[in-house]
Amino acid sequence: MARGATVSLPDARGHFGAFGGRFVPETLMAPLEELERAYRRARRDRQFVRRLNALLTDFAGRPTPLYLAGRLTRHLGGARIYLKREDLLHTGAHKINNCLGQGLLAARMGKPRVIAETGAGQHGVATATVAAHLELKCTVYMGEEDMARQRLNVVRMKMLGAEVVGVSSGSRTLKDAINEAMRDWVTNVETTYYLLGSVCGAHPYPVMVRDFQTVIGRETREQILRAEKRLPDALVACVGGGSNSIGLFHPFLREPAVKMVGVEAGGRGAALGDHAARLAQSRRNGSRPGVLHGTFTYVLQDKHGQIAATHSVSAGLDYPGVGPEHAYLRDTKRVQYTSVTDEEALEAARVLSQQEGIIPALEAAHAVAEVIKRAPKMKPDQVVVVNISGRGDKDMDILARHLS
Ligand SMILES: *Cc1c(COP(=O)(O)O)cnc(C)c1O
Repeated sequence: MARGATVSLPDARGHFGAFGGRFVPETLMAPLEELERAYRRARRDRQFVRRLNALLTDFAGRPTPLYLAGRLTRHLGGARIYLKREDLLHTGAHKINNCLGQGLLAARMGKPRVIAETGAGQHGVATATVAAHLELKCTVYMGEEDMARQRLNVVRMKMLGAEVVGVSSGSRTLKDAINEAMRDWVTNVETTYYLLGSVCGAHPYPVMVRDFQTVIGRETREQILRAEKRLPDALVACVGGGSNSIGLFHPFLREPAVKMVGVEAGGRGAALGDHAARLAQSRRNGSRPGVLHGTFTYVLQDKHGQIAATHSVSAGLDYPGVGPEHAYLRDTKRVQYTSVTDEEALEAARVLSQQEGIIPALEAAHAVAEVIKRAPKMKPDQVVVVNISGRGDKDMDILARHLS
């Protein structure tokens, strides 16, 4: 691969090597092109960039700290461990970075209404928050199974003035909510902006969401250079759709000395249906390239090409597809992908809480579990950065069961 090639992707049609692109019904081609044009103009507009930066600072709470986890470092006895504290952002996770960017874009495009899909409710809450702040109407699609599991987030969205629409088709979870949101968009595209929550979907979503999340990696780069006077040896982040990880990784892709590890949900076992590891051990576990929700990427599927069921203790990692840029980074071996089981993630959440006084979201606990395996094998003068993508409040019921 040419040096820097990775950084300049995708190409003009949204391809990351063989992956990505735009696989949607004809009626969505024009709206996606309109979105792409509006986005390209916005990123060159100094006023747009200034307004987004002001909101990230004053409303969301950026920059987030890069914190040297001294006790965890001593506890594990290896590399120096830094935590990127995205859990300290308003609404409790990195998702607000993307929602502010796209919310401003929706307003700029003159769309009075935004729609979103949500699994655990985190993206729904972030979208409803931004919609309230920017005076946009908001509808969030959520599987009925997820609504039952995440009651508190449903109340949050309603409190913020959003309409929450339960989806009763399929497995009544995230992928069904996405189908329903896409149906709404096709019908109401004149007035409605589809605010997608991760680096998935048709072009330009994977590149646009990535761009809004790279603030994580840009800050980390500055902060680690100030603290250590050098770049980190390794970056570790969890991979659901792939937005917090690509946001951390992207500003370092050109640096061959920086290793990167993406951590997926290993769930309760390697059998299809028991995990959401699309990149870590694909082919062996039912993951093959295919089209899901408008993009060509690795997808968990059975031998007939039916989208497989997935399982994870962490709703944010529980998705059968993955952002197309990650598929590309896997095949070119620039990023290493691995998986962590439910049990390992629950235990890592306990360790981080008790060593550092920080209760992570179960998604982020997957990244912490990988660091717990890896740091002791590294030298004390080495540096690893782990992204704490969100806080654990939403997971207290599950964590309580683990404690007892
Ligand atoms: C949604 C979510 C994730 C997974 O999404 P990505 O797009 O892979 O980042 C990870 N952590 C938290 C806290 C989340 O809310």
